[in-house]
Amino acid sequence: MQNHDTIIIGAGHNGLVCATLLAQAGQRVLVLESNSTAGGLAATREFHPGFRAAVAHHANHFSARVAKELGLARHGYTQRSLPPIGLGNDGEHVSVANGELRGASESDARSFQDYERLMQTCATALEPFWQKTIPGIGSRKLRDLATFGHLGLKLRGLGRQDMREFLRIASLPARDLMDEYFESDLVKALLSWDGLIGSRLAPRSPNAAVLAMLYRRSGESADTRSLIAALEAAAADAGVEIRFDTPVAHILVSGDDSGLRAKGVRVSAREEIAADRIISSADPKTTFVDLLGVEHLDIGFTNRIGRLRCNGYVAKLHLALEGLPEFTGLDSPDGRLLIAPEMDAIEFAFDDAKYGRCSDNPVLEVTVPSIADSSLAPDGKHVLSAHVMYVPYAHKGGWTDEARDAIKDRAIASIERYAPRIREQIAGSEFLTPADLEREYRITGGHWHHTEFAMDQMLMMRPTYGAAQYRSPVPGLWLCGAGCHPAGDLTGLAGHNAAREVLR
Ligand SMILES: Cc1cc2nc3c(=O)[nH]c(=O)nc-3n(C[C@H](O)[C@H](O)[C@H](O)COP(=O)(O)OP(=O)(O)OC[C@H]3O[C@@H](n4cnc5c(N)ncnc54)[C@H](O)[C@@H]3O)c2cc1C
Repeated sequence: MQNHDTIIIGAGHNGLVCATLLAQAGQRVLVLESNSTAGGLAATREFHPGFRAAVAHHANHFSARVAKELGLARHGYTQRSLPPIGLGNDGEHVSVANGELRGASESDARSFQDYERLMQTCATALEPFWQKTIPGIGSRKLRDLATFGHLGLKLRGLGRQDMREFLRIASLPARDLMDEYFESDLVKALLSWDGLIGSRLAPRSPNAAVLAMLYRRSGESADTRSLIAALEAAAADAGVEIRFDTPVAHILVSGDDSGLRAKGVRVSAREEIAADRIISSADPKTTFVDLLGVEHLDIGFTNRIGRLRCNGYVAKLHLALEGLPEFTGLDSPDGRLLIAPEMDAIEFAFDDAKYGRCSDNPVLEVTVPSIADSSLAPDGKHVLSAHVMYVPYAHKGGWTDEARDAIKDRAIASIERYAPRIREQIAGSEFLTPADLEREYRITGGHWHHTEFAMDQMLMMRPTYGAAQYRSPVPGLWLCGAGCHPAGDLTGLAGHNAAREVLR
């Protein structure tokens, strides 16, 4: 007997958002998750006895609209902003707080006001793009024409001067934009970070760095742990059923080449589960190649999926610490501490990664999540969580234990330059390369956005045309994860937009 209207593959944050919205609309929804906890990359994991951390350590732009629609505040969701702090070599740091650039020269502090005005104006104009389904090119449906009209008006609202500037900077390398406004290397590195993290981009790369900066100015800064707990509680409240430790092995289809339709999933040799529709939050390559099978797809579509760029460039370091780490010149390490003293340091680390190597001087984003959430570590102890940029999935020579230990040691050495006592404080550690993330979270290439956030994989081309409006070429099979428009990060938008399309 058919028990479910919808099966969702994956209880990551997008799967949970999509499931809850559909259940709130009256559907019977079953979520199947291969791991034993919810949250995907944002789930906390024990990496050393008594110490826990999440791979995605800070939700700095979760959609306020999604939080409201799901009623997350009723389930304990809280906001928490972590100011970005650029660590200087001499203990002189720069930071952004309350709309001000602190610790910088007067000239940079003044330029920051102009820079902020332009960036915030453009970000506000773009915000509706991330929340909408972007219609396919050439669609003449009234609804799609209205969407184009709405988005066009939003851009026009920028006015002539800001519109010109937006078009000029949209695909500019981050370095060029920073050079136009600022004199300090540390300030430039700090302000370009959000354009680069998670993508195969460095300061001198043209493409989507500025768009990523604008994307990351939407939404609100959320406490990650409360976000995932609230999403799980909202799902339960709406009647969503979640089965953990249940990897989906195959998406089942009925019919023949002239009329295929997704009809359910196989979770083991003995168990198949039927549903009217299947919505996958797994990445597009996993969904179409591994779970569905390319025999059900036409060759052009299969080739486009095969060409998606999915190799990840960010690794994760977790340290179990005997006490609070002390960073020279900082009263408290409660922020996003960026270890990237200048843009060239970022560029050189990327240069190594392009050729499959890890830099001798890796660049990092460090947080200490146990400051806000003492349950992550035993009493008086702490957890340090760091994104290590430009660690290539395709490591030359493969990911041996020696290769992993070598880059872990260099990442700790980078931190040690700013926190000289860190090594004495380490009780345990974990280093996850993109290849480890691929294995543990079933994400092709271990990619931050499931597939690169780039001009050719964006908007009505994300992940590719033929599957860009959350529908797939196989009726009854949909997508709702980070590989869809708008992209990855903890925003909830892909899951939200997918649910809206299904309900239409
Ligand atoms: C190293 C790293 C650090 C990051 N840090 C941040 C950060 O600090 N802030 C931020 O905003 N973003 C961060 N991101 C990006 C962010 O984590 C992702 O973009 C986001 O988690 C995507 O959410 P999702 O729900 O679409 O997918 P995921 O979080 O990947 O969840 C997908 C879920 O599907 C499950 N699944 C997959 N295949 C199957 C299957 N066959 N059967 C059953 N279940 C399956 C997986 O187990 C997983 O639980 C980071 C990414 C990486 C790689």
